[in-house]
Amino acid sequence: MNRFLSKRRASLVSYVPGEQPKDRRYIKLNTNESPYPPSAKAIESAAEAAKKLMLYPDPEYTALREAIGETYSVGPECVTVGNGSDEILNFAFAAFCGEGERPAVFPDVTYGFYPIFAKQNGVPFVTVPLNDDFSLPADMTEGDGCVFFIANPNAPTGVFTPVGKIRDAALRHPDSLYVIDEAYVDFGGESCAGLTKELDNVLVTGTFSKSRSMAGARLGFGIGCPGLIKCLDLIRNSINPYNVSMMTAAAGIGSLSDPGYTAENCRKIIKSRERLTSEMRKAGFYVTDSLGNFVFAKHPHIPGAEIYSTLRDRGILVRHFDGKRIGDYNRITVGSEEEVSALIEALNVIIREKGLEK
Ligand SMILES: *Cc1c(COP(=O)(O)O)cnc(C)c1O
Repeated sequence: MNRFLSKRRASLVSYVPGEQPKDRRYIKLNTNESPYPPSAKAIESAAEAAKKLMLYPDPEYTALREAIGETYSVGPECVTVGNGSDEILNFAFAAFCGEGERPAVFPDVTYGFYPIFAKQNGVPFVTVPLNDDFSLPADMTEGDGCVFFIANPNAPTGVFTPVGKIRDAALRHPDSLYVIDEAYVDFGGESCAGLTKELDNVLVTGTFSKSRSMAGARLGFGIGCPGLIKCLDLIRNSINPYNVSMMTAAAGIGSLSDPGYTAENCRKIIKSRERLTSEMRKAGFYVTDSLGNFVFAKHPHIPGAEIYSTLRDRGILVRHFDGKRIGDYNRITVGSEEEVSALIEALNVIIREKGLEK
């Protein structure tokens, strides 16, 4: 490492996003992007906002907070906004966890960014092993004086935890904070946003990257009681009060004004997910019941890494994670119908070539 890097930072290990190779054209099913373009209203609003780029954006993002609040039936004082929901999650680690205070607690199999956010902020964290079926064990929601980070549906498994279970836990442990990362909730889950009106220890994060087809815009939000939102804004305003670009904020408002478009895309993705799941099960794969825009699957006789690399050679990118519990699996984004068909075809060829057809 360069000699100017602070000792404080020398042991940082950074997040590795899914690859974005440029060597050839791939069917990209590795980063959970939407196969569909953003709403025309989002594009129009962003283009209109571009005319004002000589100005700074509104540092309060009032119009955007109001639009998000309306969508989730909360007031603008219950909403903050971020440069992607990753930023909001990072703010949550920074604001609520601390050495000798509340530790961060999250499952052993979950979003790979959580441990990095914890280390980056110098806060302690504890990981809790998921059950064998990847559901949350009791001690993942039970405990006093913790900040629980729960991706719901979870990544990369797609497993959803019922809202009632989170509500009961939050009621039992008023001194613990429950941060619910709802990046994938629009693909068949149910949001905990409503709980934030009743409980001051539930914070929900959401993103425009997945169901709203705006990963490139970088827009996320947090929903919680006004006190929690003030804490997040304290961090936000200490780092960058202009953390969302004017064009992105406008695109977000445009997208929210077109809920039918988002709902229709989610419906298509859910339908493709169900087809992909049932075709893969027919071919002999074990596939979790995912409520995300991806499936999580393993074959009983072919290692996950081999499936990943064979698909890659055939021009299809999926996401393989090393690790003892999930190394047999691949996470496969639900693409367009044609992409899903190409994937099913390729998997069936691999299985036939190995003489493993059922
Ligand atoms: C994609 C994702 C996010 C956030 O992505 P942003 O693009 O930063 O909004 C957060 N949590 C999980 C589990 C995700 O998969």
